[in-house]
Amino acid sequence: MMREFESLRPALVYLSPDEIGTIEQAYEFSRNAHEGQFRKSGEPYISHPLAAAGNPAGRHLDPQTLAPALLHDVVEDTPATAGEIETRFGKAVALLVEGVSKLDKLAFASEQQAQAENFRKMLLAMAQDVRVILVKLADRLHNMHTMGAMPAEKRRRIATETLDIYAPIANRLGLHSVYQALEDLGFRYSHPNRYQVLSKAVKAARGNRRELVDKVRIALQEKLELCKVEATITGREKHLYSIYRKMQEKNLAFSEVFDIYGFRVVVRDQPSCYLALGALHALYKPIPGKFKDYIAIPKANGYQSLHSILTTDMNRLAESGVASHWMYKSADTALNDVQTRTHRWLQSLLDIQADHGDSPEFLEHIKVDLLPDEVYVFTPKGRIMALPRGATAVDFAFAVHTDVGRHCVAVKINYELMPLRTQLRNGDHVEILTAANASPNA
Ligand code: MN
Repeated sequence: MMREFESLRPALVYLSPDEIGTIEQAYEFSRNAHEGQFRKSGEPYISHPLAAAGNPAGRHLDPQTLAPALLHDVVEDTPATAGEIETRFGKAVALLVEGVSKLDKLAFASEQQAQAENFRKMLLAMAQDVRVILVKLADRLHNMHTMGAMPAEKRRRIATETLDIYAPIANRLGLHSVYQALEDLGFRYSHPNRYQVLSKAVKAARGNRRELVDKVRIALQEKLELCKVEATITGREKHLYSIYRKMQEKNLAFSEVFDIYGFRVVVRDQPSCYLALGALHALYKPIPGKFKDYIAIPKANGYQSLHSILTTDMNRLAESGVASHWMYKSADTALNDVQTRTHRWLQSLLDIQADHGDSPEFLEHIKVDLLPDEVYVFTPKGRIMALPRGATAVDFAFAVHTDVGRHCVAVKINYELMPLRTQLRNGDHVEILTAANASPNA
């Protein structure tokens, strides 16, 4: 059975032997706990947490993200307890596992766009620590990859939730490859026929264009060398769902989508960006109205533009998003409290911004999402309501309707009677009981 862990080991080379030891222990603990359980596909259950840990490991995240990834289903699905995890692996790991388990209990039922946004905010607010989200996304990604064995109806539901909730979160956090994979898998299982047609069309088009792509890349390389700009050039292909979305939004046929291929030119610093741009525009004329300067006017995810050019630092942020700031740091293994970590992480983002004038819009979103001053709670009908932080059950009652507020007599929070003055927490299910001739005590 040890062979399974060996499949993860090559991804752990950036860790110390001690840390690898801890992760191996987490693996063994998880394997024993899940012993005798199997995935729908017939594989032993441990293959799932192992794959969920492989994704953050590939991003060189700190070891405290890997152990929770291995353990993320243990408390929910096996007799092992949160207490045992804390004793064996410490408080930080236990808190992260608990955070992921909490998110698993939330179900998103609504089809409304505004509700999806609230649900995303609720998830982020409940997660508190961004690493909980990273584990959750790795969990979802592997589940999406292995959905083949599920009934079609269940596949469609999970795929739709992935498109509505998890892919946008991955995008918001700048986890580009996770975002694309979640969207393409979500597309595949939510619209199986359209997915088949479009992926065939792209494959056919690719046949014709591959040669052209190589030709363009070589021409770019030669031109930049001639202009003495040091650069790395890579080609990229627009992912399927993004082609589909563009066709839907702009009412285009597949043949009218021009930017299926793009080239990324990574140079050393900002002045080189403009030098390279000048060289490229001399080689190929820019399309009027299609060129955007995301250095002068920064924008989150600006690299999706055909003509954007990025420095190495911007590229790092673009490729791995916030995760790049959680990359392993050797002296950082102490068990820090969540707020300190979040603060430090935000600080590191702000430092980057100060150094490079990087994406203030992107940072704005992150701050709003990770340190919200709102709480998100469920009504009995499953609607999500946003209230200011510190709001009580009475505030909730008035937010539902003035009459409900005026006549409230009691509240059930998560199906238990509680005082009306109780402050609400993220994810609470709140039900107000009223009486016609009652009014709350001021
Ligand atoms: Mn899982």
